Amino acid sequence: MKSSKRRQLLRGASMLAAGGVAAYAMPGSATAQPRSPFSVSPTFIPIAGGSDLFPVRRIYCIGRNYAAHSREMGSDPTREPPFFFQKPTDAVQNVPIGATVDHPYPPLTKNYHYEIELVAAINKGGRNIPMDRALEHVFGYTVGLDMTRRDLQRAMGDEKKPWEIGKSFDHSAPLGPLQPVAAVGHFTKGAIWLKVNGQVKQSADLSQMIWSVAEQISKLSEAFELAPGDIVYSGTPENVGPVVKDDVMEGHIDGLPNISVKVV
Ligand code: MN
Repeated sequence: MKSSKRRQLLRGASMLAAGGVAAYAMPGSATAQPRSPFSVSPTFIPIAGGSDLFPVRRIYCIGRNYAAHSREMGSDPTREPPFFFQKPTDAVQNVPIGATVDHPYPPLTKNYHYEIELVAAINKGGRNIPMDRALEHVFGYTVGLDMTRRDLQRAMGDEKKPWEIGKSFDHSAPLGPLQPVAAVGHFTKGAIWLKVNGQVKQSADLSQMIWSVAEQISKLSEAFELAPGDIVYSGTPENVGPVVKDDVMEGHIDGLPNISVKVV
């Protein structure tokens, strides 16, 4: 037995012997059964056209990916390389097609913003993925909302602190079922809009993205090893704005089913 493998086995065995609970199988351990005193629900997104589910591993979001939105956030889009942040996996709120789901107004904020975005789902991982191969890693797409506690995001930004509290909270990632590439293809252009109570608030074209989905995946894979289950929010166009309780948001991208969400 290789010594590294032996060390892994010993570590697993000592955890169990010490009364520690192994939530996951230790690498190389064939005998230790994973066990836990409580259960944690995994996060899935339904896949359209059947009963299959997409398991979510990580949620990546690109910032300021449309020039006009970048300007409204106070940045200069011409000088900025892409940057990314993450939401926790269980921020996902699944929105079935044809339904309006209740979306809880989150705590602490007085300026709760919508951001309509194209979402790409990865089913093939990798590092340093070249741009011209990047779309081979995409399983499918859907319409998503990158919900944002704008006041908290801005306050943290002003203090040069992480803006996590503004972006990475419970239910902050409502999205529709995944539409497989085999059915809907890839998205480089087409209308993207968001209505609140029937009024158009955001309206743009996917071709206005500064960094395409392929470029985003390629850039992301330089910083992180991508893996099946990762999803990528590809940025929002201009005219983000607030919603309050009882507002109904409807999101649209040409070629994908609309999603509908009511703030409660
Ligand atoms: Mn966003």
